[in-house]
Amino acid sequence: MSPRNPPTSDVSLTHPDRLYWPDEGVTKRALADYYAAVWPFMAPYVVNRPLALLRLPDGIKSHQRFFQKHAWKGMNPHIEEIADPQDADGENLLRIGDFNGLVALVQSAVLEIHPWGATTDDWERPDMITMDLDPGEDVAWSAVISAALELKTRLEARGLAAFVKTSGGKGLHVVTPLAPKAGWAEVKDFAHSLAESMSADAPEKYLATATKAKRGGHIYIDYLRNGRGNTAVAAYSTRARSGAPVSMPLDWSELNEVSGPAAFTLGNVPLRLETQPRDPWGNFFDAAVPLE
Ligand code: ATP
Ligand code: MN
Ligand code: MN
Repeated sequence: MSPRNPPTSDVSLTHPDRLYWPDEGVTKRALADYYAAVWPFMAPYVVNRPLALLRLPDGIKSHQRFFQKHAWKGMNPHIEEIADPQDADGENLLRIGDFNGLVALVQSAVLEIHPWGATTDDWERPDMITMDLDPGEDVAWSAVISAALELKTRLEARGLAAFVKTSGGKGLHVVTPLAPKAGWAEVKDFAHSLAESMSADAPEKYLATATKAKRGGHIYIDYLRNGRGNTAVAAYSTRARSGAPVSMPLDWSELNEVSGPAAFTLGNVPLRLETQPRDPWGNFFDAAVPLE
């Protein structure tokens, strides 16, 4: 779909000039316009998934940050509440079903969207694996790129596809589409074993455990995004960090030219979409196979 035909929404924005990223001059209105431009590409990663939401009602300079998995008072009705079938007595979780839902998140000052790796059509069988590369201090960006390529090689050797995105923070995420079949425990075990094998083969570069104090100089291969109820930032989500970065899906062939994990921002993504309208993750779900 072309970013030249943005979707429209019935959700009205109050205080559209409110600054969410004051240094960059990014307003609530600008955030809604950004999401309208990326909606056709982003929708499969945010629609009908349980969501954890990072809300900053007064923008990124404020200390008021709420990481929310449950409804709040006055929540816009386009943000749906849904019961977790494994936790029928617990608090409802949150989900959006369409573009109105996304604009409702903008209206609610949600500056980061963190979905589950499963949809609410199939809660117990994940449809993706996220390997989160977290470089310690003093790790060169080129080493993070090498780690992503190494993961790609290992995933493909298992017959799985691999896609890459910037985190918008410090690292890269390598994401594998799955045909829903394996359960959470199997998927997490697989992600763990992948991290362990990388670390066993190159312990001077990679760590597979979060607890080790020697993160400096190493890349931690965070496989823990893959348990039931765990989340990772969505493709195309903004980050509540300075520079207004986004988690940007990339083509593997362009990775070497990307200057860093926060290279893509609200400031430069619209131009990228105009000049390169092809979605590098366009065949993501077509590439899904079951984890055997
Ligand atoms: P970076 O590149 O800086 O590592 P990241 O998105 O990969 O960016 P991590 O710190 O590696 O960030 O991962 C944190 C993950 O933990 C997030 O993706 C989020 O889904 C989840 N999470 C759980 N609780 C929180 C919280 N309170 N605040 C933010 N994220 C949280
Ligand atoms: Mn990370
Ligand atoms: Mn992490």
